[in-house]
Amino acid sequence: MIDADKRKGIVLNYLDKGYLVSKECIDTNLCVDVRHLEESDCLIILSDTINIKNAKDCNWLELDRARVMYEKRQNSKIIQKFSAFADKEEIKIVIPEENSVKITYSYDKDTVKKREVADFVTYFNKRYSVIEKILRQRKELENSVSISRILARREKNNVSIIGFVMNKRETRNGHLMLTLEDKTGIIKVLINKDRFELFKQAKELVLDEIIGITGTNGDKIVFANNIFIPDIPTNKELKKSSDEVYALFLSDLHVGSNKFLPDEFNKFLKWINMELGDEKQKKIASKVKYIFIAGDLVDGVGIYPGQEENLVITDIYEQYKECANYLKQIPSHIKMIICPGNHDAMRIAEPQPKFYEDFSKPILDLPNATFVSNPAHVNIHADENFSGFDVMMYHGASFDYYVSNVDSIRNQGGYDKGELIMKFLLQRRHLAPSHSSTPYLPETDHDPLVISKVPDFFVTGHIHKSVVSSYRNVSLICGSCWQSKTSFDEKMGHEPEPARVPIMNLQTRQIKILRFQ
Ligand code: FE
Ligand code: ZN
Repeated sequence: MIDADKRKGIVLNYLDKGYLVSKECIDTNLCVDVRHLEESDCLIILSDTINIKNAKDCNWLELDRARVMYEKRQNSKIIQKFSAFADKEEIKIVIPEENSVKITYSYDKDTVKKREVADFVTYFNKRYSVIEKILRQRKELENSVSISRILARREKNNVSIIGFVMNKRETRNGHLMLTLEDKTGIIKVLINKDRFELFKQAKELVLDEIIGITGTNGDKIVFANNIFIPDIPTNKELKKSSDEVYALFLSDLHVGSNKFLPDEFNKFLKWINMELGDEKQKKIASKVKYIFIAGDLVDGVGIYPGQEENLVITDIYEQYKECANYLKQIPSHIKMIICPGNHDAMRIAEPQPKFYEDFSKPILDLPNATFVSNPAHVNIHADENFSGFDVMMYHGASFDYYVSNVDSIRNQGGYDKGELIMKFLLQRRHLAPSHSSTPYLPETDHDPLVISKVPDFFVTGHIHKSVVSSYRNVSLICGSCWQSKTSFDEKMGHEPEPARVPIMNLQTRQIKILRFQ
């Protein structure tokens, strides 16, 4: 490091000549011969250009202009030419870093081995150990003991336990009786109906979720005083980027369906290419750097009986080809992050691996897309001064189960209140806590559906209605869909809201919904 006096000297020296020298120049001891710059008014020398040693031969002004054009996305060719030329001279010009997408978790096992009963046991044990640890962080559950130890107790005492909800039923007197299980045993837990808040909380519990209970024990029973769910911390930082850039969220394109909406999607493409909208809207389009697509890219083939009648493209290869033709039109400087959904051509058991080469080659060939499993975790927009945003992507196949099995979600609007489903799952720290809520493959080394790390954004699809909400500083976002109401929607009473696009300003974390219909 150069000491303060010397640093001051260098700065003054340059100032004398009419230049303000950057910190990087001083730190790397770069001495630029400025004589050839005399005609210019101003030049910015940044860390990515200071490696040019034979400064005299470099047209600094042109290089700087090229960089500005690159950053404004007007022209990236000139800076690349500079870079190519510099390479030959064995000089390094660093082109400003591209938008960053880092995969933090994507399931990538491609061989499916035969599963045995023991695998399910191991799988549930893996899940238990992660969620138990989260629950144990609460003071009240610190000293939880195993169920077998409670069962062995004779005297009445205050107890705390952590276990899976195996069963939940109403007793003849209208109380709730839970059966809790851990690795060591099974015990009954009684929730008194007169404890209004507790009873209400217990009604929300779903099978197989992992909870903590404090109460007093009787003979092979616990009388509950409190119920604890893992939940997420209340003090999560609301991260913001230093620059004004945008991320937007798509899902459920359903290309190939006769209800796919090409006009609306083309409108979206026009806007993202800055060919549609007023100046303000175009300006926002120019600042979009990330597009998430949370599954159901195509309608698929043979997803449900009689689907052929609802398809305009009946060949799965052609569906992906057509889908790629649309996605190709998204400007190449925008990074897309794409996971599959239950309509895509692959196994529906979760975790769904990323798209298969054999069916989906046209989309896998998109140069600006990152493909991940469902669910997956990615980090975007990190740089040396910013840790980036952690994004959890999940298509949402388990959502249907919770809409029909959790009274509070159903009574408050069900599918119209996607944020309640998302919050419910975040609180349980699992994307599909109940065994029958989604088809899954029991992994034996970890449970890919556990939410072990709390994300900044929880991004989903599947319910064909956009969601923009937040819970404890986690942004809850669901893409809409690009398919109008189907006969299936009709039958299920779904009211889809197609052609809407949630878009987030990463600098303010504000989210708006754009309409293309
Ligand atoms: Fe869908
Ligand atoms: Zn879906």
